[in-house]
Amino acid sequence: MRATIARARPAPRASHDDANRRATTRIDARRRAVLARASAREDDAWPAEPPTGAVVMEKILATAGDVGRITKRAVKRRFGGAETTSGRGAGELARKRVVVLGSGWGAHALMKVADTDVLDVTVVSPRNYFLFTPMLPSACVGTVEFRSLVETVKVSNPLVSFLAAEVVNIDQERKVLTCAATTDPYGDPAASGDSALTFKDDIGDGGGSSRETFEVEYDYCVVAVGERPATFGVPGVRENCVFLKEIGDAAALRRRIVQCFESASIPGATDAEIRSALSFVVVGGGATGVEFAGTLADFVRSDLAARYPSVADKAVVTLLQSQSTVLTQFSAGLQSAAISALEGAGVNVRLSVRVSEVKSSSAIIKTAEGKVEEIAFGMCVWSAGLSSRPLTERLVKDGGDAQARYQRSTGSRKLAVDPWLRVVGSTDVLALGDCSLLFGAPLPATAQVAAQEGAYVARLLNDAAFVGQGGVFSRPPAAAPIPWLSALSKTPDLGLPITPFHFLSLGLLAYVGDDRALTQFELGKSNRLRYEASGRFAFLLWKSVYVTKQVSFRNRVLILFDWLKTRVFGRDTSIF
Ligand code: FAD
Ligand code: MG
Repeated sequence: MRATIARARPAPRASHDDANRRATTRIDARRRAVLARASAREDDAWPAEPPTGAVVMEKILATAGDVGRITKRAVKRRFGGAETTSGRGAGELARKRVVVLGSGWGAHALMKVADTDVLDVTVVSPRNYFLFTPMLPSACVGTVEFRSLVETVKVSNPLVSFLAAEVVNIDQERKVLTCAATTDPYGDPAASGDSALTFKDDIGDGGGSSRETFEVEYDYCVVAVGERPATFGVPGVRENCVFLKEIGDAAALRRRIVQCFESASIPGATDAEIRSALSFVVVGGGATGVEFAGTLADFVRSDLAARYPSVADKAVVTLLQSQSTVLTQFSAGLQSAAISALEGAGVNVRLSVRVSEVKSSSAIIKTAEGKVEEIAFGMCVWSAGLSSRPLTERLVKDGGDAQARYQRSTGSRKLAVDPWLRVVGSTDVLALGDCSLLFGAPLPATAQVAAQEGAYVARLLNDAAFVGQGGVFSRPPAAAPIPWLSALSKTPDLGLPITPFHFLSLGLLAYVGDDRALTQFELGKSNRLRYEASGRFAFLLWKSVYVTKQVSFRNRVLILFDWLKTRVFGRDTSIF
């Protein structure tokens, strides 16, 4: 621990600095030597994935450590300790500058677990809050309010610094980030076209060049920028579809839905005009598309039908899916349960159809038999998939051959990371969440994965404060006596915990409409600890899990009140 070394020598400022620098260099040199030795052992057998019980134990120990750390931080803040709060104490020089790109699931977990006594953490993100994405579909119809789903970075961890900007470049030689101040990220999406918001923070995608830029230095850089919606090159998607990714998208959707009902109610509208305005098309049978389609059908049936009685019976929600089933990550039984629940909720589910073009008020689709159809719509929601952000693609390119090797073998455009989540071919850069690809064992792009990875990286930096080059060896050193106990086993010189990142899957949840949900609980890969349910009971489980999973007590209370309000008064349909 460099911080400890520095604090143990109460010397005059200048010599203190020198001693500190010397100590740091000494330790770094030793670690580099061990690293070189370790890389020579490439052919050692890759340790088998530890048994589920071991991973559970590992997570419990790690979480206990996190809780201890967070409690310590809270106590320090409450009862003085200006040294830590202001970061100007004796340990200041020894604190490593960690710059985190993003404020999503991965970054949020990292912020919570990071020890600001040893790390000087700065978060750079175009949005100054964390967003609880699983409940975004509920927010689109007003079941819950937007502000109940977010937590400001400054609240998540008051001891980290925040900069409202997007990173446009990483100079790995100079260890400097180039950031572009965010231009009005909270602007009215309706004013700039609904789809603009999600794409607004795209670098190299228009709008990025004219903005004010500044530089930020780092010792360690953590890339957690997530992904953006993929259009798959289908013409008209960007111009004519609404996305479902950010809070601004949800706000735009909420307005648009009710607007469709208002325009359908204008006197003189023909039957065809009414049907077209009230045709809601959702593209994509993944979790987001399914949950939104089910939720929208609920909104129409339980609130809008009573408020627009003359037209509401002409409203149709259509879910378009290119595969022959929905929610492919769930078991086959749950997939068919999902389809029947959706149909029961009033959703018109169309499988094996491909969207080939989206016009301003209709979508052209092609069925499996090769038939071409045109579906008129009042609103088309695109949730067909995600792809890498321009920054991620640039970093992949910067990674050269080392990255290209993994891109080629997997066909991915994400940043390849080694088992410690270090970016392959880069030094002192880590990546996690949706923008990364763990080589050897690719993981799903979910909040659960991103959050576990964020916490892992925070612990790695808290404990080791050493990162080094990613992908130097493809296997962790095999000498550990108990390879899965990260809390106890560490290569003392290498500074890296022996244990690479292990993902523990806790299961899947999806809401399918009409107060029904699917739950597939599991614990890692163990088949004995599996529980599946669908229907109203599963919805109760869905609700309790999402209340529990809220990132703070404040969010938990807000969500509960929102649900209560909706139950008693219905959802609000005013447009603004
Ligand atoms: P994100 O959470 O996407 O965060 C990326 C962050 O990076 C953002 O703050 C963004 O503003 C910022 N950023 C972007 N570009 C830059 C840049 N150039 N510089 C700096 N910062 C940048 N997963 C589940 O497990 N369960 C669910 O039920 C679920 N439901 C979902 C519902 C919806 C509607 C959506 C959209 C997603 C859902 N997901 C769910 C997926 C989950 O949200 C993602 O897997 C998760 O957000 C990934 O976390 P991340 O940290 O990698 O990226
Ligand atoms: Mg993140």
